[in-house]
Amino acid sequence: DAVLELKGVTKTYNAGQPNQIDVLRGIDLSISAGEVVALVAPSGAGKSTLLHIAGLLDTPTSGDVLLAGREMTRLNDRARTSARRDDVGFIYQFHHLLPEFSATENVTLPQLAAGTPRRAADARSQALLERVGVAHRAAHRPAELSGGEQQRVAFCRALANQPKLLLADEPTGNLDPETSERVFSTLLDLVRETGLSALIATHNLELAAKMDRQIRLDAGALRNA
Ligand code: ADP
Ligand code: ADP
Repeated sequence: DAVLELKGVTKTYNAGQPNQIDVLRGIDLSISAGEVVALVAPSGAGKSTLLHIAGLLDTPTSGDVLLAGREMTRLNDRARTSARRDDVGFIYQFHHLLPEFSATENVTLPQLAAGTPRRAADARSQALLERVGVAHRAAHRPAELSGGEQQRVAFCRALANQPKLLLADEPTGNLDPETSERVFSTLLDLVRETGLSALIATHNLELAAKMDRQIRLDAGALRNA
């Protein structure tokens, strides 16, 4: 029972033009429940394109994307947006938290958008922030938090709606090595506890080695790393 399946996924930019680029050339990938997979790729290999397609932010040129067994490729925009909101959590290299809102509010807002009542959403936010060790910063805005704290809040936001799949693009890539190591292990513990499936892009081979499986994206194709 795969949580994420990509079948023959291709992506071509600028089709038919002199600058045509075939970024993905037939990607087959299956991630099962609870599996944590490292995606290793040189810059420009199409890692962001792959993560965006897996997370329903972009559509493939051809091929199929299945989330929890459901075909996503032919859904209309509205259905795809709702599947994304309910089933996928994203973490980026830079936290992308809303600067005007507190840590708690950043975790609560996506829950309200998904229809969770305010009281339950706040309670869940509080529990998540405690779990990652930033509860004492709950009322602070992102600019008042350290880099590591900002990323921890971003993890909480990604998990706020209890997604089935977590997608992360260099989730600790902007932190110094020591903080990165610490913050990454918090993330991995959290993912393991929740039984989430995850695809985590990283350049850091030590971090990649802590995951269940490593795959490499190279010249538009996936290989086992
Ligand atoms: P990575 O995340 O591995 O660095 P990307 O997926 O961002 O790679 O990009 C892969 C290649 O596709 C790059 O050569 C990039 O310039 C190209 N590319 C990405 N997005 C677009 C786009 N919207 N239009 C044209 N080319 C693009
Ligand atoms: P870390 O060890 O996580 O890198 P820092 O040395 O960046 O932490 O920050 C130490 C503490 O100072 C953190 O708890 C953080 O919340 C607080 N802090 C950092 N920057 C600011 C700021 N601009 N305003 C208020 N508090 C801050």
